Amino acid sequence: MSLSVTLDALYEAAFLTDEQFRILDCNDRAVELLRVANKQALIGRSIADFPSENVLADEFPTYLKERLTAVPFVVIECRMPRDDGSLFWAETVTHRLSDATHLVTFRDVSARVDSLHRAEEANERLRAAIRDRMEFVSNVSHELRTPLTSMSYALTNMLRGICGTLPEKAVGYLERLHVDVKRLMTTVNDLLDLRQMENGTLTLHRSNIPLSFLLKDAANALMIQAEMKHQTLTVEVPTEECYVYADRHKIERVFFNIFSNAVKYTPENGTISARIEAQDDRVVIKIDDNGIGIPPEALPRVSQRYFRVGEQVAGTGLGLSIVREITELHDGTFAVMSPVPGTTQGTRITITLPRCQAPDLFIVTADAAFAERLRVALAPLGLTHRPLSEKDIDAQQRAFCSTSKFIFDGALTDTAVSAAVCKIRRHPDSAQSPMVILTNAMEPLMKREFARWRVLVRPTTVSPEELRHLLCN
Ligand code: ADP
Repeated sequence: MSLSVTLDALYEAAFLTDEQFRILDCNDRAVELLRVANKQALIGRSIADFPSENVLADEFPTYLKERLTAVPFVVIECRMPRDDGSLFWAETVTHRLSDATHLVTFRDVSARVDSLHRAEEANERLRAAIRDRMEFVSNVSHELRTPLTSMSYALTNMLRGICGTLPEKAVGYLERLHVDVKRLMTTVNDLLDLRQMENGTLTLHRSNIPLSFLLKDAANALMIQAEMKHQTLTVEVPTEECYVYADRHKIERVFFNIFSNAVKYTPENGTISARIEAQDDRVVIKIDDNGIGIPPEALPRVSQRYFRVGEQVAGTGLGLSIVREITELHDGTFAVMSPVPGTTQGTRITITLPRCQAPDLFIVTADAAFAERLRVALAPLGLTHRPLSEKDIDAQQRAFCSTSKFIFDGALTDTAVSAAVCKIRRHPDSAQSPMVILTNAMEPLMKREFARWRVLVRPTTVSPEELRHLLCN
């Protein structure tokens, strides 16, 4: 079989070239593709005359020769000019043959490349539109956050009775308003966080935080909504507090979003229960409800952004994606199960977070009985209690860190307490630490002085609950 017959049998435009890539022969498809009069118009020309982009024409033969010493064939995609001036996208394959000649084929891939380019352009336009939309949404969210915060502040104060006793009906309206304002604030914060997570600017402000407090706070924030639906919302925590090294506000949002879904997707009179389990170096938080549950096919997608199951209650489809993304940023894990294991209904969300050491509580006193009373009252916090005499501060400074907490015995002289406070505040690691002085007698002037150092003054009869809150918030 002659070589030209072999070339003609090929679907692609095919050329036989010499060592220098000058065309010795070609098939009819090459004549057609390059729109020349006949084969003679191509024979004798160099393959280097064709490639117009990607590879410089002068370097084309050298490049091919070099590559062909390493591999049996070289594929190059480039735009090629025809003699009539038109261009097409070609996939060129150059094969090294045994007698130092080459077999070169050109395939017109313009349709594929053009559609790829069109798809890339459409993709870029889509990405730009999504960027614009996110930009717009986060700008609007920023604008909404300030007025919503002040509305929430005003409503909290009114509900606390700052404007006097309000009629029962008014309290009812205000409570509903407060629930709605809080819901709007959650959505606004979700959108802002999402934006920051997307462009990698979300910063976590981590400290050792007590998980039970956070979980209870989040549950309390949803209590009114649960009560409106006559739901039972319970939180079970271990006797000894578990600490996690986390961003308090972000983890609060994680719990808030989960509780908020549980309330939303559980019918009236339903039950929602949360519990914390300590497991070696991790803490497991399980939040169960006996609500409508999630269909099995939707389970893998519920924590994807904007995903919502069906058309049920209004929502943004962002809550669980925020939960998962924030949890993962804390090196935690997220899982969703439906029905709740061991039952036939409802949803269980499980979060695990790495555990960290309990912070130190320094008790500045000369009275062993005072220290012991606090140890008993604050036992649920699981803090490491460290008695500290005001004279020891210099020696013990190395033990202070950003999570240390301080309680002062007001029985010490004001001078001794203020000297101790100054030293602790000036230490870079304890500059922001919570400090409380327990005393029943202090001059208002002195109180103001301590307030400047961000030190709280409370009576010795302060309840353990309030003290725990002061130390943990
Ligand atoms: P949404 O704002 O729509 O609630 P989420 O991301 O929080 O968005 O949740 C995604 C979807 O997962 C919801 O639309 C809902 O269908 C489902 N879902 C989430 N939590 C629960 C739950 N506790 N019970 C039933 N369905 C839930």
